[in-house]
Amino acid sequence: MRQQIVAGNWKMNNDLAQTETLITSLKNQTKTSNAEVMIAPTFTNLWQAYQTLKDDTIEVIAQNMHFAENGAYTGEISASMLKSVGVKTVILGHSERREYFGETDTILAKKVDTALAHHLRVIFCFGEVLADRKSGNHENIVEGQIKNALFHLEASAFKNIVLAYEPVWAIGTGETATPEQAQDMHAFIRKTLANKYGNDLANSVSILYGGSVKPNNAQEIFSKPDVDGGLIGGAALNANDFFAIVNAF
Ligand code: PEP
Repeated sequence: MRQQIVAGNWKMNNDLAQTETLITSLKNQTKTSNAEVMIAPTFTNLWQAYQTLKDDTIEVIAQNMHFAENGAYTGEISASMLKSVGVKTVILGHSERREYFGETDTILAKKVDTALAHHLRVIFCFGEVLADRKSGNHENIVEGQIKNALFHLEASAFKNIVLAYEPVWAIGTGETATPEQAQDMHAFIRKTLANKYGNDLANSVSILYGGSVKPNNAQEIFSKPDVDGGLIGGAALNANDFFAIVNAF
């Protein structure tokens, strides 16, 4: 049985006081599913969030990190810095990082290597833009993103990798991939993994869907056999909505 995961990406939202308030609301929620729950506050609030949730089952994760160990990279955060504030999991390759901060597959391959070398678990994001979906090129794009950033890895590395398929046209737009579109792509991703690493590995990797998941559509999306959870943006900023999604399993 693959691990079900619901991870909230808070992006550049919530200052310290707001982070405390949202975490307090999250702690008051009741979890009725077996999904692993994660939240990704901004860097400046990770330590506080980690302290507040130390004895809770909600894991505090990071939204990004640099590939270098340390040095002259003004404004960046290293893997060891994340670990020093309690972080064990990092999101890499989010489409906003790719689009606004120029993160390429080559850069992401280096980030993945650094994260794994530091025993961080990686939630690796990828997905096609609308033009690729419209032209029917979406599978090629996704296959390329996965191969370029991950297929240099040994099979054993995948126990610390979670995949997150996020069609860019569905992120923050209110437009969701249909459950069938999500399932088709997740099955394709699993087949791509199986072709390279074999069925056992492909069947062991959790593949999350991200893109306007809300309380009213989560259950149908999560009911698909190859969808193992969600990476949630907007709806993760409201404790009731987020836990409605967590409990949609
Ligand atoms: C995301 O940014 O990863 C995301 C899925 O956002 P939203 O849920 O707001 O579409």
